[in-house]
Amino acid sequence: MSDGDPQPRPSLVDTPAAALSRGTAPAPAIVFDRVGVTYGRGRHATVALAEFTLRVAVGETVALLGPSGSGKSTALKALAGFVRPRSGRVWLAGRDVTDLSPAKRGIGVVVQSYALFPHMKVRDNVAFGLKAHRAPRTEIAARTAEALAMVDMAAYAGRLPRELSGGQQQRVAIARALAIRPEVLLLDEPMAALDAQLRQSMLVQLRELRNTLPDMAVLYVTHDQTEALALADRIAVMRDARLVDVDTAQNLWQHPPSAFTAGFLGGANLLSCTVNRVSGGAALVTVGAATLRVEAPDRDHRAREANSPGLLCIRPHTVRIGAAAERNALRATVTSLVWRGASTRVRLAVDELGVEVTADLPGQVTRTVGDVVGVLFPDPAGVLVPPPISAETDAVASGSAKLGGRA
Ligand code: ADP
Ligand code: MG
Repeated sequence: MSDGDPQPRPSLVDTPAAALSRGTAPAPAIVFDRVGVTYGRGRHATVALAEFTLRVAVGETVALLGPSGSGKSTALKALAGFVRPRSGRVWLAGRDVTDLSPAKRGIGVVVQSYALFPHMKVRDNVAFGLKAHRAPRTEIAARTAEALAMVDMAAYAGRLPRELSGGQQQRVAIARALAIRPEVLLLDEPMAALDAQLRQSMLVQLRELRNTLPDMAVLYVTHDQTEALALADRIAVMRDARLVDVDTAQNLWQHPPSAFTAGFLGGANLLSCTVNRVSGGAALVTVGAATLRVEAPDRDHRAREANSPGLLCIRPHTVRIGAAAERNALRATVTSLVWRGASTRVRLAVDELGVEVTADLPGQVTRTVGDVVGVLFPDPAGVLVPPPISAETDAVASGSAKLGGRA
């Protein structure tokens, strides 16, 4: 902090107010600055969010992606004002709102259960926030109609929530959040209660809605990577109350910055390898008896010493099987097959590595459990990821938790 600067300054992020006063980039719509949230006290305390730092630009959609219990909802609640951070600050549009009540933050929030008022008609549900803000009556009517039209629910204004399907209720909840014309929209697993087909069409509708409101920042909480990939400009991956990685979906997918992200986003075979040689963005590695050319992103410095251990991420859909005697094939035994329509997920025990590899093969595969085959990788075979730290190492080494992932 510079001398005499009166602003409390976030350390890892530029102060929004400071950026504004310099006349540089506009303030981010959302800033989390080292936010910590702990539930309960003493021995029963749960750290739900630790040192959480993230910024979302005006007009940007960021997905908070992570397993159940990783702190996603807590982050959203800290921003909305439903829980009080024990440490750190939250900012909206350059304003520190940490001490403001939820209603004064002017955020649109959609929660998983929709939380519609059961005794109120759709139009009154949608108008609720406007009435709370004491908007003039004519404006309430106009904005309610506008918000219902945005989610294609104008024809249902006179119904009660129980007279609507789950998908329709969800759209009303979104209309209610949008009616106050928020600069920031928070969605917490809004599709969790919808069936797969409805979810697909809601994803398309949410994207269209997003395009009609280009200046709104959206924070979208989900444990479902397909939702994150479909909607987000950037994905923030969370684990155990912490932010693990944040980047565009494409970067996280192509060059996973961590073993955890590799496995959680897209599913991954994570194989220990020896890195023989690195040049430019490529490396030559050995995995068992196979020598493979792989991608080596710049930041992967540890892999740059010759013959150092490395960790290789290979996506299941790139793995092929052939004859065990084929050149550069890893000899393996089929341990399971699950037909999924367009593809078959095959699990293969690679004898010499002592791990299982997952392959998603096109169509229906005519192999049986116990078949001995050769596992083949493409060229380049995958991408080096930074070796995991602590707990993850065991999972990778034993070939358990991370293999196959959740593609
Ligand atoms: P997510 O949304 O990623 O599933 P949450 O933010 O809901 O995760 O929860 C993070 C952690 O905090 C979990 O361990 C959860 O059990 C705990 N937790 C959440 N809400 C409360 C609460 N009101 N009281 C105590 N613990 C809570
Ligand atoms: Mg949650």
